[in-house]
Amino acid sequence: MFPAAVRAIVFDVVGTLVEPHPAVADAYHRAAGRHGVACDVAEIGRRFRSAWIRQEAIDAAATPAFATDQDRERRRWREIVAEVFAGAPESDAIFIDLWESFARPAAWRPLPAGVHLARAARDAGLTVALASNFDGRLFPLARAIEPLSWAEHVFVSAEIGWRKPAAEFFRVVEGRLGLTAPEVLIVGDDPELDVAAGRRAGWHAWDVATASATSRGRA
Ligand SMILES: [Mg+2]
Repeated sequence: MFPAAVRAIVFDVVGTLVEPHPAVADAYHRAAGRHGVACDVAEIGRRFRSAWIRQEAIDAAATPAFATDQDRERRRWREIVAEVFAGAPESDAIFIDLWESFARPAAWRPLPAGVHLARAARDAGLTVALASNFDGRLFPLARAIEPLSWAEHVFVSAEIGWRKPAAEFFRVVEGRLGLTAPEVLIVGDDPELDVAAGRRAGWHAWDVATASATSRGRA
């Protein structure tokens, strides 16, 4: 089912292989409640999306664009939480609570479409890797959660120094895999960060939902 030239399948993590459980807005709502802050879940969801987009725009406008490190990733999430809770004095405590919560395997659950494709990649004898806009918390998570633990390589933006969609991110990953661009396929859920950016880098790139549905239809 995979293109003949492909040697490695590189999976995006969040939204592709796993998702937060409870959902992000619910997790924020619960964390806020632990610190005495009441906020409507739907409002949290709206503010989260706009704060997340604002942080992406900051990275896009930076020179160089989409460079990152562990400090930048921690600052991203601190600022998102502050924006969601409109700068409430408790927002820093809520941020630390959430930062630690999402570091726990119990905060995540596998996504069937991604699991299906990861299993197919393994069965085909291909190298399975993760490539995520994430920080150092992903390394222990990736050892603890299936199907992340199936990956032989874990590539994390904060450690690589670049976030998707930067071309540099893809160059570093293919270099560490010892492969050329046409030998790599990225599977992800984000049309821009995974699929469009992957294709610009010369990789094969599949949307996880479409690819999973197509392969099941074929089976
Ligand atoms: Mg994703």
